[in-house]
Parts: sequence; structure tokens; C-alpha cells
Amino acid sequence: MKDILTAPIMVEMIRTVTNMYNHGWDERNGGNVSVLLDEAELRDYLDLDRVLRAIPTGFSAPELEGRYFLVTGTGKYFKNVQYAPEVNLGIVRLMDGGRTAELLWGFSDGGKFTSEFPAHMMSHVARLKVNPANRVIMHCHPSNILAMTYVHILDEKAFTRTLWQMCTECIVVFPDGVNMLPCMLCGTNEIGEATAEKMKTARIVVWAQHGIYGAGADLDEAFGLIETAEKGAEIYMKIAHLPRLNTIPDDMLRQLAKRFGLTAREGYLD
Ligand SMILES: [Zn+2]
Repeated sequence: MKDILTAPIMVEMIRTVTNMYNHGWDERNGGNVSVLLDEAELRDYLDLDRVLRAIPTGFSAPELEGRYFLVTGTGKYFKNVQYAPEVNLGIVRLMDGGRTAELLWGFSDGGKFTSEFPAHMMSHVARLKVNPANRVIMHCHPSNILAMTYVHILDEKAFTRTLWQMCTECIVVFPDGVNMLPCMLCGTNEIGEATAEKMKTARIVVWAQHGIYGAGADLDEAFGLIETAEKGAEIYMKIAHLPRLNTIPDDMLRQLAKRFGLTAREGYLD
């Protein structure tokens, strides 16, 4: 068996969560990431018949029966992942209709997956229906997106349009826009179901006064999505209190989408 810490996805995961921490998106134990893995990716690294522990998930997700996930641990600090990946990360296989997670590697201090596991797994189900290549769900607390949810109305179309107007990159990176949830109790199946519902129509879901969820085909795509939304929010927070003399007009947003062969969210441009 090869060393699992040398597996390309593991190397990428450790780099990504370290980078998220370095961006200031994941204070203390904030944030969580899950990556859907192929069995073939793991076969050279793990004995897939050797289950370390069976952990109840508290929800059902029959669509994910037998699927493997690399996921961050509950209460774990992203800043520590690079120094002790086997404590802070785990690889699980969902069984029993998603009600049981079989631990195959990691969480070596007896820990388990993130408390936001329901939101992650339900979001994977929702995104896989839209895009079978979707592999990653990423959650974190970028300061400007969070700040924006205190001073901007939470209407999805208005919030999306404001971000699109902050830099030309935004509509190119998220033409599907930004969906929003009001301030809700986190860590529950209810917020998981609500997030998954919102994930059906956009790859970004903002949790007001809390943070952001992003989905992508790989870690780079999910990271870049959040990075771009956060850049838009940063510009908004720099200018919101100043007289606005210029903006990106809808005609330019339409031309940008056309230039990159993208379809802007229906009805979001005047
Ligand atoms: Zn959070």
C-alpha cells in the first residue's frame, strides 16, 4: 500500500484548507470541506475492507450509498491540518442509506466529521443532480461576504447583481448567481436541507450573518468561486458608504457573459 498522505487529492486537500486558513476565512474551528472520492483513487492507498469505526450520521442519503468522502473533522482547526492530517481529516464511506459513515482513515483521536456533515452531504446530492462531475462542497467565513449580509438587503437577485457590479470577473465566475439563506441555526438537518434546496440553482449559497457555501468540480473551482465572491464583497464594503459615480452597466454584464459563452441567471439582468 502507498502512503495515503502522498495521494494527489490528499496533498491538494491539505494545501487548500491551509490556504483557506491563510486567507482568514477559517478562524479557530470555522469552516469545513468535503470531497467526493472515487474508489479507484483510494484502492492503492487504503484497505477498503478495513472499517475503523461505524459512525451514525443522523440523516439518510440513499443517493450517496457506497460513496467515499474526504472530510474535515468537527472542532478541528484548519491551521493544524497540515501538521496532523490524520487527526483533523477523515475518509468515510456512506452505508445503510447514508445513515452510517464507515471510517476508513483519519480522525485518529476518536473524533468525527464536521457538524455540518448534513449540509455537505445533502448539497452533494443536489449538485450531483445538476452536474455529475461535482466533487467538492466548501464552507467558510470570509469577512466581507459576512459583513455584506449586515448592510445589504438579502434578496438573491439584488445581492447577486451587486456582486456582479463590483468587478467584471464576478459574472464570469458565477453567472448562476448567489442564493441566500436567512440567519438560521447551523449544524442541523434543517439548514442542510435548506442549503441543498438552494444548491439546485446556484453553486454559491450565502448563510446570512454566518458565511458561505461553494460547490465545484474540484477544490480549485470551489475555492476560486468563494475567492471571487469575497473579492466582490470586499469592493462593496469599501464603496458602499461612498457616493457611487460609476458602475458596470447591465449591457456590459450581458456582453461579458456572451464573450465567455455563459448564460447569466434568467431574469437577473435588465
Ligand atoms: Zn460555519
